[in-house]
Amino acid sequence: MTVSGEWICKACWQKNRARDEVCWRCKAPPDASADEVAQAQQGLEARRERASKVPDAVVAVPVVVFRGYAKAWQRGGLSLFGLLLLFALGGVTDLLWFGLTIGFGLGLFITGLVAAEVAEGMRERELWAYLAGIALSVAGGLGSVLAFSIFAPDLISPTAIRFSSVVVFGGAAVAAVAGLVLLLRNRVPVG
Ligand SMILES: [Zn+2]
Repeated sequence: MTVSGEWICKACWQKNRARDEVCWRCKAPPDASADEVAQAQQGLEARRERASKVPDAVVAVPVVVFRGYAKAWQRGGLSLFGLLLLFALGGVTDLLWFGLTIGFGLGLFITGLVAAEVAEGMRERELWAYLAGIALSVAGGLGSVLAFSIFAPDLISPTAIRFSSVVVFGGAAVAAVAGLVLLLRNRVPVG
């Protein structure tokens, strides 16, 4: 079919320029046979399906990151309880210290469990998991800055803590946001 030098593809109704030897969208020739039309339409269908899947690498990055956090946080929580035992044996009787340490250890451990759930949800490409992952990254970043300033104010310089928190948790947030964006974008049918 020819309209002022242009031609309309029989397979996908794409308008092509006169000098295009095949349709730029589905690769069917202008005088496509019924077979060629069917083949080109199948090709388009397959391409649409591929596009609707989030690439595995995009999902894998936040999943790995949050699995790592889950382990680190759970272990951190448990080791804090170990530390408590040492305090108790060492005769530390400051109740505020105990309270803070218990709270912080529990908080860490629970956050670790949540992060493990989030990682699993991300693997299943669940929307909530990415949102929760972003929230966890923000909370984790603020939490680590606070924790260091409470527990070890003189250990490392505050700037170094803030900087490393931004790097560690910012990276996680970026990974979660990237996953979320790709997930949302790929939910819209490609046309
Ligand atoms: Zn076409």
